[in-house]
Amino acid sequence: MIVEKTGTCKFCKQMKTVSVPEGADQETCDAAATDACECPEAKEEHRRRMKKDAAFTYIDNMLDKNSYARDVLKAAVEGVMNKAVGKVSTKIDKYTYTVDAADGEIKIKREFKESQEESF
Ligand SMILES: [Zn+2]
Repeated sequence: MIVEKTGTCKFCKQMKTVSVPEGADQETCDAAATDACECPEAKEEHRRRMKKDAAFTYIDNMLDKNSYARDVLKAAVEGVMNKAVGKVSTKIDKYTYTVDAADGEIKIKREFKESQEESF
C-alpha cells in the first residue's frame, strides 16, 4: 500500500509530502523528497542518477553474458562519478574498456586492437 508521508530534501531541507510504500523509513521518505525537489542540487543529483542508470543499462546490454565483468565496469562508473578513482581501464575478453568521467559526462570506451604476428 502507498501512503503519504513527509520527507526532507537532503540539500535544501525543504519538507515535502511524498508517496511511499507503507512502512517506509525516514531515509526512504527523504530520498523521495530529494528526488521530487526542484532545488539546483537535487536536480543535479537527479541528472547524475539518470546518467548512471543509462551507463548501467549500456553495460548490461554490452556484457549480458558476463556478470563479473558487468560488476567491475559498474563499480568503475561509480568510482569515477564520485571521483574516488581516476580513469579506469580493464581488459575483458578481447576488448579493453576505459571508463572515464569528464565535464559531468561518463565515458565508456571499448577498444579492440587487432594485430598479427608471424614467426618463421
Ligand atoms: Zn531541495
